[in-house]
Amino acid sequence: MHTIRDIIYIQYSIILARERFKITDGIQIQYHHRGYIKSIFMGMVKSGKKWSELIDKIDNNNDNIKCPFCGKECDSLLTEPIIPITKKINEKFTSHGFVTNLKNTITICPECSKLRNGLGLYEFYKKKMPNDIFYYQKIPIRIEKKYLQAVYYFHEFSNTLDKIDLDGDGDLTVLDIDYILH
Ligand SMILES: [Zn+2]
Repeated sequence: MHTIRDIIYIQYSIILARERFKITDGIQIQYHHRGYIKSIFMGMVKSGKKWSELIDKIDNNNDNIKCPFCGKECDSLLTEPIIPITKKINEKFTSHGFVTNLKNTITICPECSKLRNGLGLYEFYKKKMPNDIFYYQKIPIRIEKKYLQAVYYFHEFSNTLDKIDLDGDGDLTVLDIDYILH
């Protein structure tokens, strides 16, 4: 049975494969490189390493020309935390200096910011692509990577990494990753 930690590892493994083989689509990469993804995932599980040792260096740079979500060139991009500072995040984590220490920002256009409106990355993509059941495999690599790098620590801090169904819908999905925010 998979846990929150596993689903974060799996998404991260898919991202590393997308980078390695330069295939942006998460479904396509799983179709062609399932074995490679599984080997990265098992390597992460068996390594016994901390998250900080497993992930690439956190990329604090932002694209200051194009919105990563819609690709629109825009001279009024907004800088926002990649983990939305929701009420719960604010109450539970900011007092510990936890959020600010992560320096986890993205620059996005005002329209996407409005649509995102405090949602987690997967929740946002589900809203953005309501008719696509594989919405969570269509997120720009660099953004999803930054998000997972950061969101892991919120689960670690809350002792939810070993949970199997956070949102209580009977199923473990990427939306359980975002459940920590609310
Ligand atoms: Zn946009």
